[in-house]
Amino acid sequence: MKVAVLGAGAMGSVYGARLARAGADVTLLDVNAAHVDAVNRDGLHIALDEGAAVLPMRAMAPKAFTGPVDLILLFTKVFHTDAALSAIADQIGDAWILSLQNGVGNADRIAAHVDRAKIMIGMTMTPAEFLGPGRVASHGAATTDFYTAEGQADPMLEQVANLLQAGGVTARITPEIHAAIWEKATFNCALNPLCALSNGTPGGVGASPEGRVLADAVVREAIAVAHACGVAASRAHVDELLAHAYAHHLMHEPSMLQDLNARRRTEIDALNGAVVALAERHAIPVPTNQMIVRLISLAEANARFR
Ligand code: NAD
Repeated sequence: MKVAVLGAGAMGSVYGARLARAGADVTLLDVNAAHVDAVNRDGLHIALDEGAAVLPMRAMAPKAFTGPVDLILLFTKVFHTDAALSAIADQIGDAWILSLQNGVGNADRIAAHVDRAKIMIGMTMTPAEFLGPGRVASHGAATTDFYTAEGQADPMLEQVANLLQAGGVTARITPEIHAAIWEKATFNCALNPLCALSNGTPGGVGASPEGRVLADAVVREAIAVAHACGVAASRAHVDELLAHAYAHHLMHEPSMLQDLNARRRTEIDALNGAVVALAERHAIPVPTNQMIVRLISLAEANARFR
């Protein structure tokens, strides 16, 4: 299978490497010229649970990319989706797009560029870290769930799952993908901003009665919005994810905290921001999520002055 990874930072490089290991013909596409140059010159240095390796890989700027490919794995931050797909618009052709990006609304963002029937969406709890140009790490792999955005069965699902599994990803074809995406997004809505705003970790939020009250309110509101959107997201599953994070993610700094500290834009619009926008459509009050969006926006603005 010919694959282009659009947005080859932490997650894109790790998944691209795993697909290459499985025998796919992979091209990494990224606007980070230092990363592209390092990968082409020295190979991709990757540290995984199964060991470290240096993989020879092909990387290039999106504007240099020529199709056709069978699959485009989209792994930019969500606010770069439009620019990234626009840059390769002439080369997408008949390719499938698979997004494992965080947040809700990814299928709608992609559908502005391609036929909705060629979109697969999913989610993974697998973490990955960008260590510097040409260097990534991923430890503590988790499952990767995905399905077609429109809900139709297609042989491509099996082909992609087989390829991911051959590369060491525990991939699952999950027809209830919208529920799975909402459950992970709700988990992120609860923990990422609270850790970012309190300069803390999931363990710290869980250890604080106030932290738990706020997380609980975020989850209650987000699940009500998911249900109003017709998505059967499970509150109990989100609570399980939170309980695990409170008990085990004692030192982990979620990406939103890292983004604020590095003065980068956060993905708040695709998380609590999306909950607020959809809640308005369904006339559901979501005061906690609304306040969190405002506080993160304020923190983003203030970060520019530090
Ligand atoms: P990242 O910042 O490491 O990688 C994103 C890459 O996109 C960067 O290398 C950037 O240069 C590139 N990019 C930006 N604009 C581009 C454009 N126009 N064209 C091509 N490339 C462009 O981010 P990440 O941590 O890999 O996260 C990617 C997505 O995966 C996010 O939605 C994130 O929430 C999600 N996610 C991340 C993790 C994690 O642990 N890192 C886990 C699960 C999901």
